[in-house]
Amino acid sequence: MTTIQANLQTVRDRIAAACAAAQRPVNDVTLLAVSKTFGPESVRQAHAAGQRAFGENYIQEAVEKIALLADLPLEWHCIGPIQSNKTRLVAQHFHWVHTVDRLKIAQRLSEQRPAGLPPLNVCLQVNIDGGATKAGVAPADAAQLAHAVAALPHLRLRGLMTIPDPVDGFEAQRALHAQATQLLQALRADGLPLDTLSMGMTADLEAAIAAGSTLVRVGTAIFGGRQRPA
Ligand SMILES: *Cc1c(COP(=O)(O)O)cnc(C)c1O
Repeated sequence: MTTIQANLQTVRDRIAAACAAAQRPVNDVTLLAVSKTFGPESVRQAHAAGQRAFGENYIQEAVEKIALLADLPLEWHCIGPIQSNKTRLVAQHFHWVHTVDRLKIAQRLSEQRPAGLPPLNVCLQVNIDGGATKAGVAPADAAQLAHAVAALPHLRLRGLMTIPDPVDGFEAQRALHAQATQLLQALRADGLPLDTLSMGMTADLEAAIAAGSTLVRVGTAIFGGRQRPA
């Protein structure tokens, strides 16, 4: 067994323990393996250990990797910031995008989704802890954006995504993630059929699962420390 394969098992055990503690079924929570900065060989090792969904931040890097791994039945998630001039590549190559926070980006993704591909799955990135310089739609504006995105033809709005600043302690992390859960519930009550809460990373996946996360994005605990920042 390789290090990546052993690490994957450790992360799966963490997810299972967190689900048990929260009295949630373990298949409520999808593991997204964040492979940014790591090469195709690392992805192949994770796939050989049963991992199917992979997350990437840098679009150009991701598109090259996706091409080199086209022989494998993988599901690719864009979790990095998207400039307007990169929407076409995202629409062409990814199955999911978690970082939509403006209608203009969503409109371009919808227009540029190639005919013949299924709708692109979308999460809205929400600035849940309100950092002034951070990406993400403000929670107060999320409902308006969600309804507009849900009306676009070639997208399928699935839910919300958050990247809160690190806070110390399980309870503080859980309370922050619970705000996103409440926002998702409000949108569902408002008629949007959302099923995805993309929240929790290596450092806080237990707290995210306790608060209701359905998808945790884990890089470091699977692939190790990254050589360059991300
Ligand atoms: C890098 C990254 C992750 C993974 O972070 P780790 O701490 O390495 O698990 C998750 N989500 C996003 C948006 C990221 O950029």
